Amino acid sequence: MAAPSDCFSADFKPQPYWWDATPRQPDDLMKLPAAADVVIIGSGYTGLHAALQTARAGLDTVVVDAEAAGFGCSTRNGGQISTSVKPSFSLLKRRYGEARAIAILKEGQASLDHVAKFVSDENIDCDFSVVGRFHGAHTAGQYGKLLRECEGRHPGFETGAFMVPRDQQHSELGTDAYYGGIVFPRHSSIDPGKYHAGLLAVTRSAGARIISQCRVNDLQRGPNGFDVSTDKGRIRANKVIVATNGYTGPLTPWQQRRVIPIGSYVIATEEIPGETMDRLFPTSRILSDTRKLVYYYRPSPDRKRILFGGRVSLQETDPRKSGPKLLAELVRLFPDLRQTRISHSWAGIVAFSFDTLMHCGEDKGLYYAMGYCGSGVGMAGYLGSKIGRAAAGVDPDLGAFSEIPFQTRPFYTGNPWFLAPSVAAYRLRDRLGI
Ligand SMILES: Cc1cc2nc3c(=O)[nH]c(=O)nc-3n(C[C@H](O)[C@H](O)[C@H](O)COP(=O)(O)OP(=O)(O)OC[C@H]3O[C@@H](n4cnc5c(N)ncnc54)[C@H](O)[C@@H]3O)c2cc1C
Repeated sequence: MAAPSDCFSADFKPQPYWWDATPRQPDDLMKLPAAADVVIIGSGYTGLHAALQTARAGLDTVVVDAEAAGFGCSTRNGGQISTSVKPSFSLLKRRYGEARAIAILKEGQASLDHVAKFVSDENIDCDFSVVGRFHGAHTAGQYGKLLRECEGRHPGFETGAFMVPRDQQHSELGTDAYYGGIVFPRHSSIDPGKYHAGLLAVTRSAGARIISQCRVNDLQRGPNGFDVSTDKGRIRANKVIVATNGYTGPLTPWQQRRVIPIGSYVIATEEIPGETMDRLFPTSRILSDTRKLVYYYRPSPDRKRILFGGRVSLQETDPRKSGPKLLAELVRLFPDLRQTRISHSWAGIVAFSFDTLMHCGEDKGLYYAMGYCGSGVGMAGYLGSKIGRAAAGVDPDLGAFSEIPFQTRPFYTGNPWFLAPSVAAYRLRDRLGI
């Protein structure tokens, strides 16, 4: 592989690949109104899906974001859509009992259906495609574990998943790095930038006002709602929706104590010859593997590049430093790509939770949904819609993720000091193949 300084193409951009097709929204010069029925903090998938519901229910809706609309993860992600629920059925059953475990898994499947239906109903041009996922086993033991999970699926969750043994792996992926894997045929891919832009347009035409460069600095509860202080002045709101996920800060300390912000990093390669793409990526599936420190990757929608992501660094936010680490891992999986350079490298902050599940809820007019654990492309919109409908009084049912405790830990205030030792332990486990 080229030395780190030679890893970048001449036209390298330290920004998401998606922003080439969907440039950042210009700042709107809209003034903040004095009052609204609902103020939504955060303009990603959670906030906009919530806003769409409240606006369509006839509520005066204002969405504010500290930065440009969609500044957070919603225009930076890898565009992979799964059922978003990480823990297995057996683990969920041990924790919550069978009925709740089933309810949680059903929510995961509903979130996958939700995004498919949404982009179709609203006619959003965002390269949504049901391509399926190949999930590679990084050890023989992990292949056995995937096989047992595949065979022991709970009735009612027939996902159509099937195993691909190592000797047939090249029909899925041109690498020998895995010990076979599993295919989830319903998992899908999307261009997250186009999806966000389409969602923004639909939400605006439903009547919601979206005001960027408008950080909320203070939130006070009064007898008749909330007093919200922002960079652009104050606004009174009957209801507030917190949709800040990995960017949740001291404004909402209860939520901040429950989410763990973690950097996630992606690169796009320069264009790769079609013949090489077809050999290494014979399908357009999205891809991931069984390592604890997960890598996720896929061909770009036009199949000219590879988008390769992972959690290569804890605090490092400089994409020029994270990029070469990701490229090294890509080349380890596909040695033929050793001359390939990086055209884009970027990062964003995802929110994990202590139980690796997402959560939503309400407290006297304040609604929230967050903690997607790096899998929010489907789930954020699904839970955003739920809290929007609840805030609008259309449907109070917030579903299974509102019925489980949103845990914190003693002395945790939002600074994840414990991540460095955990990541080191995970790295070691991945290296040892445990
Ligand atoms: C690099 C990367 C790759 C990813 N890949 C995938 C993937 O392939 N599949 C998947 O399912 N998920 C993926 N994710 C996660 C997914 O993108 C997120 O779960 C999802 O976008 C969360 O949406 P959201 O609307 O809740 O939050 P965000 O889109 O992060 O929006 C939160 C917004 O809140 C705003 N905000 C915060 N505080 C304030 C304040 N005080 N005042 C005003 N505004 C505020 C921020 O500016 C931000 O715009 C990835 C994330 C990253 C970073």
